[in-house]
Amino acid sequence: MEKRQELYAGKAKSVHATDDPDRLILTFRDDTSAFDGERMESLARKGMVNNRFNAFIMEKLQEAGIPTHFDRRLSDTESLVKNLEMIPVECVVRNIAAGGLVKRLGVEEGQALEPPTFELFLKNDALHDPMINESLAETFGWATPEQLAEMKALTFRVNEVLKQLFAEGGLLLVDYKLEFGLFKGEIVLGDEFSPDGCRLWDAETREKLDKDRFRQGLGGVIEAYEEVGRRIGIDFD
Ligand code: 5GP
Repeated sequence: MEKRQELYAGKAKSVHATDDPDRLILTFRDDTSAFDGERMESLARKGMVNNRFNAFIMEKLQEAGIPTHFDRRLSDTESLVKNLEMIPVECVVRNIAAGGLVKRLGVEEGQALEPPTFELFLKNDALHDPMINESLAETFGWATPEQLAEMKALTFRVNEVLKQLFAEGGLLLVDYKLEFGLFKGEIVLGDEFSPDGCRLWDAETREKLDKDRFRQGLGGVIEAYEEVGRRIGIDFD
């Protein structure tokens, strides 16, 4: 697989074309950002840790029958993925109240959410990823009602698989964000699943072991990501 020109550089990953128009290479960089890119830092090992973390999770989801764009890991920091036509909508499921939900609704952090909630956000940094709904997505052509229904169903299936996986490592999956795209007409999970885009707490102590450590300046960010990874069986060496 030949790595060709860079198509896009996001805040933490870069996307390159390959000699196959149906495949892209994702490069996980050490860069980390918060508050829509207002705070940027480079954290040693982050690219490697997130690339391995994402590969492990995507394979678990694939095994559970959830279609993902992931093909295979190519190196410490690179993975080969299907070339999706991305849908500019972020799907968020929450099992426990935290982050944006606490801020927006004034509910107590740590409150169990039963049933888990489902929210949609428009992927747009300049507008700070505003919350949207199915009606807006349909009217503005971001996704069809059928696509949205499929994205919602898949996002909840991911919850069943990953809540269990993290529970076995003594971790609570608090919330997470997924992005989907189209591959030959089918809705497929894209982007990444790593502690950058989810919240994970120690089940006993409720210690935060995800990107909130960076957002809140708690330190030990990559050490926490590696700890989570080790607990669910990822080998970083
Ligand atoms: P919140 O709405 O509480 O800020 O985010 C809910 C969940 O989705 C969190 O796990 C958060 O990490 C993830 N999330 C939401 N938007 C983004 C985003 O633009 N980038 C990343 N990396 N994660 C996001």
